[in-house]
Amino acid sequence: MKTTWGLSEAILTTVLAFVIWSLVRLDGALETPEVEGEETTTQPISCYRPLNLWFGISGLQVISFAMAIIVGRCAENGDKWWFVDPCSRVGKVAFTSTWAVLLPLLAGWTALGMNWLSATLRETPDCFADSTYLTPTMYVSSLVLCGLAVAAYALIVVCVWDAERCRRANSIAIESVQDADLVCRWGPLTPAATMELCGGLTPEEICALPRHIQSCDEDQCVVCLSDMAKGDHARSFPGCGHVFHRACIDLWLLRKTTCPLCKTQARCDYNHEAAATRGTIC
Ligand SMILES: [Zn+2]
Ligand SMILES: [Zn+2]
Repeated sequence: MKTTWGLSEAILTTVLAFVIWSLVRLDGALETPEVEGEETTTQPISCYRPLNLWFGISGLQVISFAMAIIVGRCAENGDKWWFVDPCSRVGKVAFTSTWAVLLPLLAGWTALGMNWLSATLRETPDCFADSTYLTPTMYVSSLVLCGLAVAAYALIVVCVWDAERCRRANSIAIESVQDADLVCRWGPLTPAATMELCGGLTPEEICALPRHIQSCDEDQCVVCLSDMAKGDHARSFPGCGHVFHRACIDLWLLRKTTCPLCKTQARCDYNHEAAATRGTIC
């Protein structure tokens, strides 16, 4: 999550800095001094850049965003968070089109609009005189809203990618350790959209650890607080040799790298001698 938040903050900061920078430039352009002694002409003046075109296409892009969201949600049976993990092909295409096509388009169009407005205020500041609603303030407000929308949606897309990355990592981790014994003890596990199961050993490292069948009854497994009975699937912790149910210690080791009892690090040489005094290694 730390990496993702860093990236999210970077995107947000960059877009906001760009918006602020553009507003500062526009602010200077808005204060264009009037030319003394020159009478106001009644002849309509064409704007230096086609701002009405910018306004119209911006509206079309916003409508396209809304349409993509509506189509995706309908294809995913109205699921509120459909874009996190779309199942249908239409849903996947709808979400992909929003971040791969519409988002860059709107970002680029917003930047172009800032440039056009700045140039128009500099070159033909009187071209707004005949309009009562398409004023520089209206354009600036629209540009700011577009910039904020781009930043907010980019943040959502990054969060969705991170959630999907976590879910896949969790799914792989769960698949690697889940068997009938684990399901019997803990029930079926569902992949989560957090890195909860990815802070310890890798599935390969866990599978490489020795496992055995208990040859006698033993003390409690401190993970599940149940007795270790003869015939239970067990695993001895590398380093110290403490014994736990295999299902319990595997789930623990996906999160942590230390023994739950003595805090010995798992990433060290396996102590076969200590393990032999506590269980039978198969
Ligand atoms: Zn246990
Ligand atoms: Zn230990």
